[in-house]
Amino acid sequence: MRRFSYSRPVDAPAAVALLARHANAKFLGGGTNLVDLMREQIETPAMLVDVSGMPVNQIETLANGGLSIGAAVRNTALATHPLVRQRYPVLSQAILCGASGQIRNMATVGGNLMQRTRCPYFYDRSANCNKRQPESGCDAIDGFNRMHAILGASPSCIATHPSDMCVALSALEATVHVHGPLGARAIPFDAFHRLPGSTPAVETDLRSDELITSVEIPSLDVASRSLYRKIRDRASYAFALVSVAAAVSVTDGAIVKARVALGGVAHKPWRAFEAERVLVGASPTANAFRQAAEAELTGARGYGHNDFKIELAKRTLVSVLSELTGTRGAQ
Ligand code: SF4
Repeated sequence: MRRFSYSRPVDAPAAVALLARHANAKFLGGGTNLVDLMREQIETPAMLVDVSGMPVNQIETLANGGLSIGAAVRNTALATHPLVRQRYPVLSQAILCGASGQIRNMATVGGNLMQRTRCPYFYDRSANCNKRQPESGCDAIDGFNRMHAILGASPSCIATHPSDMCVALSALEATVHVHGPLGARAIPFDAFHRLPGSTPAVETDLRSDELITSVEIPSLDVASRSLYRKIRDRASYAFALVSVAAAVSVTDGAIVKARVALGGVAHKPWRAFEAERVLVGASPTANAFRQAAEAELTGARGYGHNDFKIELAKRTLVSVLSELTGTRGAQ
């Protein structure tokens, strides 16, 4: 590992000022991804600005009924918080599907948003990877791509975003609050992570000198009836082949609200706007759920090893919607 300096600022303005004064500095949260990347010399910061101990570690109810989650809140604390379990069960379930207990104890909310893909070619410095080395190519496209994207990919990169928590935050229409040299700003969750396009190394809308300070979830009645399901190769400590976060409310035999997002399928948590459009106003039937899944996956494309994900995503979505609404006989 290369030498680097280390600092622990007291608050967000001090952290941002430190980053501005040092070239090639990086924020450090729980370190559950960044330290691995440094060991592999994929990331080589000259300075680590440790923001894990800053006073942005509270979960608070807002005047508008929403919830503010500090960026330094640990994943375990968020998943087990009584308000989260009661009002946003999909978020608690998603976090508990991720990683291991030890990692969840260390990982922070801000770090979870910033974690990088687990594409094996990204971690292999002998492989061609446009994300690690722009313009070098993408060995995954003609390589072993079982875990890779089926939606929103590009000829430059077919990697997936690894987070479970972010899939739930996408469905919950969260907002990311950040602080930079020009002050604070808020980024809608769906605009925070990017699709790869021709610049896969640029993964978020966060500027290089900005720090995530909190994530806000709106008051959302529909969220109290919500569900996260993750399909993976092992029962624990495995990334999603496909995951679904969904919340649905039904009144007088018709779906009146639907929030759906998919994980393991794209470079970012995939908000399923097309599926939501089909669902709202429909009766909660197996046929309607399948139509919603077909609409969402219309543009899906496999790369050989991951072709199976297209049907898997459809079936998982139908299954989750069926369980949420108590619909029988759906597949
Ligand atoms: Fe790199 Fe993306 Fe290709 Fe993986 S899929 S090798 S991360 S460019």
